[in-house]
Amino acid sequence: MMALSACRETPGKLPGTNSGPGAAAPVSQDTVAPDRTALALPPPSLESLADTTFIRLADYSGDFAYDLRYATANNFLEEAVYPCGECYTRVKTARALLAANAELMRQGYRIRFFDCYRPNSVQYKMWAIVPNPQYVANPVKGSIHNKGGAVDITLETLDGVSLDMGTEFDFFGRRAYHDNTDLPQEVLANRRLLKETMENHGFWSVRTEWWHYNLKAGSNDPVADFQWPCPTG
Ligand SMILES: [Zn+2]
Repeated sequence: MMALSACRETPGKLPGTNSGPGAAAPVSQDTVAPDRTALALPPPSLESLADTTFIRLADYSGDFAYDLRYATANNFLEEAVYPCGECYTRVKTARALLAANAELMRQGYRIRFFDCYRPNSVQYKMWAIVPNPQYVANPVKGSIHNKGGAVDITLETLDGVSLDMGTEFDFFGRRAYHDNTDLPQEVLANRRLLKETMENHGFWSVRTEWWHYNLKAGSNDPVADFQWPCPTG
């Protein structure tokens, strides 16, 4: 039984989004901060970059945890769709995530990422594997992951112990819904902590996926398709 999903949020329903069904989203010329390792330079400060520039989050904080599932076969597609796991977002998304993580760390927790920016061509690859809008956002319209404004996350303690959110990442079904309160109190409290913190920092949630958050200010950015560099050797 297929009981999984992959962030099939529907940008067409968002305020200010004009692309109708079948209208291909324009893929922009993406601005990406320089590859620090290639240049052997420190990353440019976030303040010096435009809000829409893409950055590698790990260049700006060592305080996040990563479990980037689509770079592994441990996801509902059962195959890796990224050549290596990296978490890129636009600068404005990164700023909001840094602020949210700081608030969480004061309470003994931190954000663990399952997915961040996803190139539009990877959305097509996922669609080719599972061409079903119930599980994968249609690549023609693009997902907010393709815009650099969505993240799939959970919480862990500062010792790296995952909080119980009631389901695995990408579980499709009522148990993953925010409005399902038929769950242990601990699970509900963990989800509430994540949701309230993210909402405090400019994100909105989707009803059916406890792990998915969209930056409000990121909904109208263009779909992007740059590929991040992978370590060599
Ligand atoms: Zn998502």
